[in-house]
Amino acid sequence: MELGLQGKIALVCGASKGLGYACAEHLAREGAQVVIVARNQETLDLAAAKLAAVSPGGAAAIIAVAVDIATAEGRSKALAAVDKLAGATNRGPDILVNNAGGPPIGDFRDWDRDIWLKAIDANMLTPIELIKSSVDQMIARGWGRIINITSGSVKAPRYDLGLSNGARSGLTGFVAGVARNIAKSGVTINNLLPGSFETDRLLSGFAASAKLTGETAEQVRVQRMQETPAGRFGNPDEFGATCAFLCSKHAGFINGQNILMDGGAYPGVF
Ligand code: NAD
Repeated sequence: MELGLQGKIALVCGASKGLGYACAEHLAREGAQVVIVARNQETLDLAAAKLAAVSPGGAAAIIAVAVDIATAEGRSKALAAVDKLAGATNRGPDILVNNAGGPPIGDFRDWDRDIWLKAIDANMLTPIELIKSSVDQMIARGWGRIINITSGSVKAPRYDLGLSNGARSGLTGFVAGVARNIAKSGVTINNLLPGSFETDRLLSGFAASAKLTGETAEQVRVQRMQETPAGRFGNPDEFGATCAFLCSKHAGFINGQNILMDGGAYPGVF
């Protein structure tokens, strides 16, 4: 299927590995020019080299920016890289994939105000700031795609993911209003909600959950897999392909949605 992404400029946050990387890879394969952002230069450079190898535009179509996207300085450097690819000032991306590391797992009694603010900053306010910096330029061009990587925990909150449940629900409520407000413009905003996908984040989460329950990380892993009707964890590649489809020319009528990818784990109908 031709996705119509050739030459589009994408900004993908949290993209050196895991779900963000998978989104960047699928966009790059489709011919989009991609700015990837993550904090660790070394991992990011490896990711950029892999993207350059699959992109029809090669290394010239990929820029890696090693910054913390949850800071104003980091966002400004990421947007400057978009300008560099576009050869224009304050252009903003055609495609924005918002993503950052998830907040820690734990018990809410242990979380003070600073811990909450960090989670809200990374998983709610950072996407909102980037939407604010990009959406009006997309509207002016009559086309744009914004994907927020949130979590299945928005629909089915898990106790130990309280920081994630709280911060991401705030973003979800915000997006629901804006997506409809701009719906006539050709710009869509959707949230992609991962269930359990085999990434570093998932694997480190088993160890953290095990500490709370007294089980081993392996016991948590097996139990979590058995809870998923598919009987397996998701492959990040499946996530990236769905992201690219939502960014494609075929997905212009999908807007303001929370799209759950969890192998059937969510037990409800809606
Ligand atoms: P991951 O840890 O494998 O990768 C996260 C990526 O984001 C890395 O490239 C990391 O360098 C980058 N990153 C983190 N914080 C950043 C920051 N402040 N600035 C710039 N880059 C940053 O994680 P993942 O499994 O790919 O998860 C991505 C998101 O999806 C996370 O928010 C996670 O909580 C959420 N999520 C994941 C799962 C899952 O099963 N993997 C399930 C539910 C929700």
